[in-house]
Amino acid sequence: MRVVVLGGGAAGFFAGLSAAEHHPGAEVIILERSTKVLSKVRISGGGRCNVTHACFRNRQLAANYPRGERFLRRSFELFSARDTVHWFEERGVELKAEMDGRMFPVSDDSGSIVDCLLNECTDRGVRIEQGTNITRIEAKEGVFVLGMANGSEILADRLIITIGGHPKKDGYHLLEALGHSIVQPVPSLFTFNMPEEPIRELMGVVVPARVRVEGSDLQSTGPVLITHWGMSGPAILKLSAWGARSLHTLGYEFAVRVNWLEGLDEATVRRDFHTDSALYARRRAENVDPYKLPKRFWTFLLNKAGIPKDLIWDSVGKKERNRLIDLLTNDRYTVSGKTTFKEEFVTAGGVALDEVRPLTMESRKVEGLYFAGEVLDIDGITGGFNFQAAWTTGYIAGQLLKHQ
Ligand SMILES: Cc1cc2nc3c(=O)[nH]c(=O)nc-3n(C[C@H](O)[C@H](O)[C@H](O)COP(=O)(O)OP(=O)(O)OC[C@H]3O[C@@H](n4cnc5c(N)ncnc54)[C@H](O)[C@@H]3O)c2cc1C
Repeated sequence: MRVVVLGGGAAGFFAGLSAAEHHPGAEVIILERSTKVLSKVRISGGGRCNVTHACFRNRQLAANYPRGERFLRRSFELFSARDTVHWFEERGVELKAEMDGRMFPVSDDSGSIVDCLLNECTDRGVRIEQGTNITRIEAKEGVFVLGMANGSEILADRLIITIGGHPKKDGYHLLEALGHSIVQPVPSLFTFNMPEEPIRELMGVVVPARVRVEGSDLQSTGPVLITHWGMSGPAILKLSAWGARSLHTLGYEFAVRVNWLEGLDEATVRRDFHTDSALYARRRAENVDPYKLPKRFWTFLLNKAGIPKDLIWDSVGKKERNRLIDLLTNDRYTVSGKTTFKEEFVTAGGVALDEVRPLTMESRKVEGLYFAGEVLDIDGITGGFNFQAAWTTGYIAGQLLKHQ
């Protein structure tokens, strides 16, 4: 039996290795279009490769996928984050968890993961062919015919497609030709541009906050990083993932409401200021900060509220105090455009999940055809979840199980 894996990324390698492990007699070939395999693994996580997330409850793990949660709940039962840790450990690559749950190789070097996958392929006899441009796929009487740009053909008994995400629907034309529906791809995991907002002067400042997209239910809580183009950080990236589709519809022109106290309500903030009013009375405004916000940020908010930073607190007018409380709990910023997050970006959209079986990854349309990785309409938030989806779906696809 010949198994062809189309795409030499994380999912493709896991699929190929799993096929070789589960079908020792099979000839397994990974066809990669570019001249480099595993290029995203290499650059991922800033060169450290955030392999997975230390989340060992499958339901909880699946909740980190804006698209694919229900599908993955079933798939994780077959190959979980714990299985990923074991898989690499058994092959001599130990992983460590950071405080926020992200897991990296102890070497802090993505090269450990790349080398491990390449060595495994050598050991298991998985062939890797780079620079192979497949332009046509036909399913003919149980055999797949893959046509190349130069006119030659490769035949396969089983085909596993792991070509990753593509920014445009055209990128999936081979799959549409096989009868699969493609959910319109849109980018996920990006940061917000705020060209008109003076807050950009505070680049580098991090403030834990709750951010909500104005006029919607979309909101997230976590650190916000001010950048020279706008806002980034976990709270923004989560919003970009959960809102990937709706923010795309808005053309990335919208406003956000920010509670700089992680959701503390206005009445509580008002009470906090009142309770400590005797303590603050003789202080300069810049030294009155009940919430220990970064100094530069506090001065910025005072300025926005029209309060000179060296004004004695007792002399601050009621209107300005109210404005400050409003800014702390319901500040507003205009977003105009997005910027790709350099550490990790993914495509939302791809092969429609109702056309793929979550326990085998086999197509419901074409027998013997399997999918894995980002080519599917699955994407996670940052933190190692995207690779976990690639490992899980790749491993399952490589088992080449048939629907009973
Ligand atoms: C800069 C960056 C950093 C990231 N860091 C992390 C991280 O630390 N942790 C995390 O969980 N996720 C991270 N991600 C996301 C993660 O890399 C992807 O979700 C993951 O690589 C998807 O794996 P895949 O194998 O499905 O697709 P890919 O890794 O995209 O691999 C697909 C492969 O298929 C090839 N291909 C495409 N079309 C064809 C074709 N027609 N024929 C043959 N080959 C083809 C491509 O050249 C590519 O090599 C990062 C992404 C980026 C861009």
